[in-house]
Amino acid sequence: MLQYQPAVDVEPLREAYRFTAKVHEGQKRLSGEPYVTHPVAVAGILADLKLDLPSIIGGMLHDTVEDTLATLPQIEEQFGPEVAVLVDGVTKLSRVNFNSREEKQAENFRKMILAMAKDIRVVLIKLADRTHNMRTLQYLPDEKQRRIAQETLDIYAPIAHRLGIYWIKSELEDLALKYLRPEVYAELKHNVAQKKKNREKYTNDVISRMSKALAEEGIDGEVSGRPKHFFSIFRKMENQSLDFSQVYDLVGFRVLVDTQRECYEALGVVHSKWRPVPGRFKDYIALPKANMYQSLHTTVIGPNAQRIEIQIRTQDMHRVAEEGIASHWGYKKGQDLQVTDIQRFTWLRQLLEWQQHLSDPQEFLHSIKEDLFPDEVYVFTPGGDLHSFPKGATIIDFAYRIHSDIGQHCSGARVNGRLVPFKYILRNGDTVEIITTQEQTPSRDWLKVAKTPRAKSRIRAWMAAQQRERSVALGREILEGDLARHGLEYETLQDQGTIETLGRELGVRNEEGLLAGIGYGKVMSHQVLAKLLPPEEIQKDNEQIEGGLERLFRLVGSRDRGVRVKGIDDVLVRFARCCHPLPGEDIAGIITRGRGVTVHVAGCQTALEVDPARKVEVSWAEDVQMPRAVKIEVTCADKPGLLAAISSAISEAGVNIARAHIRTFDDRAVNTFEIMIGDFDQLGRVLQDISRVKGVYRASRVQG
Ligand code: MN
Repeated sequence: MLQYQPAVDVEPLREAYRFTAKVHEGQKRLSGEPYVTHPVAVAGILADLKLDLPSIIGGMLHDTVEDTLATLPQIEEQFGPEVAVLVDGVTKLSRVNFNSREEKQAENFRKMILAMAKDIRVVLIKLADRTHNMRTLQYLPDEKQRRIAQETLDIYAPIAHRLGIYWIKSELEDLALKYLRPEVYAELKHNVAQKKKNREKYTNDVISRMSKALAEEGIDGEVSGRPKHFFSIFRKMENQSLDFSQVYDLVGFRVLVDTQRECYEALGVVHSKWRPVPGRFKDYIALPKANMYQSLHTTVIGPNAQRIEIQIRTQDMHRVAEEGIASHWGYKKGQDLQVTDIQRFTWLRQLLEWQQHLSDPQEFLHSIKEDLFPDEVYVFTPGGDLHSFPKGATIIDFAYRIHSDIGQHCSGARVNGRLVPFKYILRNGDTVEIITTQEQTPSRDWLKVAKTPRAKSRIRAWMAAQQRERSVALGREILEGDLARHGLEYETLQDQGTIETLGRELGVRNEEGLLAGIGYGKVMSHQVLAKLLPPEEIQKDNEQIEGGLERLFRLVGSRDRGVRVKGIDDVLVRFARCCHPLPGEDIAGIITRGRGVTVHVAGCQTALEVDPARKVEVSWAEDVQMPRAVKIEVTCADKPGLLAAISSAISEAGVNIARAHIRTFDDRAVNTFEIMIGDFDQLGRVLQDISRVKGVYRASRVQG
């Protein structure tokens, strides 16, 4: 510590050492060494990271509360609240078992993120702890070795990567490989050692040629070459199905210069000396990674026609590249720095925001895992602001990133000036302009298109709110109907405040909550009636209804939607939103808990997949005339006047257009219409009429 922070008073650290040595006294590690060697080594790794004094004291004490009789209040009294918070955080994190059942793992991972949010130093101590445990893994039984190594590879190495601490990441990966694939590790080690002499000669040759070329241009650059870590060679062999002899670039070269300008100059020198491999140049100086990594990357055809990878950066960038977030720690003083540092880590900030919107731990784990892959794309707003997204992100993700409202009403986008379809996948360097319309609202399909957790959680939240609104309306209908059967009036009860009171008695907060509960099927309307009517009347009511199913349907109310459900009269019927069945079409019914029967088209995928026990026979009532919205898609040439021709073909068939949405591509237009259709035959006729319009390529119904 004194090396990088000479002015610091290390007496508390000495005290921490004495404390930990005393409380761990008599305990041994599996290696046979006294236990205290472990906290000392962990504190050492934290000092390698050049962290501040509380972190290193925290590392020294990190196992005392978990494994000894020492208590948190004791630590707080002796070392102050800051250290106590760190030790407490690490203790809690130590109890997290990432290898338990998947579901629990997700929850635990969330805790890890929350620990980071509180104070990222907790996670840095945990990383140091894991690094030392991995270094001494050979003393553990085989099965435990593999479990810990896998966990390290799944969770800790990606965390180190995301925090930008490169050396810990590589060390953890190599050690994990050693225990997970011992044969691969041994072979790599052997092969790398065998080639050592040639490689060193080659490396030195490249270094001297490159240094000379830089010097000739007056650039003061420090060139180095070092073997890549085993895991990255392994990954390359796996990803590209190569064997060892085919992996040439075992050495990564690095050029360190003083200024950013010199980085680009050095790049010019390298590219004029050796031919660059197309598509391999990356400018992380202009576009830093989320973990703040900056560098120029290129691959060139070096001496002996071997591909060599070169990274060019300044000394400052190098420090960030090696130490990541830790590089912003030790040198600074003051308590508020962790806040600003966390703010600089976009990734962390986003994680924190997402996790507030996600209630399902599974979804959370999934989003984290997805996000731990470093692949990102960078796109611009029309104003030139830069945003980074995970690979595969779409314009929906972009829209939600700009603002929730923009996401909510996103109806399309122009990318680099051209209209693109909804599913367009963002590419590096795109300039994206979102088109919004007030009528546009999110739909379930958007969940398939959206890639980022933020967009997905906002879409879900919106749909949940919609669902609640519908439930309230439905609940009111149901309750009103049931009350009316007994000669009671909803509004009168409402005015008297009776509804509100009843709701509270049934454990919901207010009237709206009660109605929503009834609409969802969580609260039964007869529970409400039971509070209002004499028991005899309720009894009579129940006697009229036989069988559980009928009773349920009876309770959720009665709506004649033109569908007959076999064997049951009084039943709530809904039409499936996935397939929009039309009168005259073959249909199938599915019993939905608390929500009556949902009617699907007989061949609808959802209907086919459902448990047969939930199916019920349904048929259309005679001569139903009940216009319902149907979505159709019309593909046609992108010509003026054509849209008008299509619209009039629709209205001439006696059909109303509820909504229209037009997207144009290079030479064609895809129009989506929502039209009000009375029955299946009418739909067939109108589609035929549209197809007859000149310039129309195809007209069809959209399912789903
Ligand atoms: Mn430990």
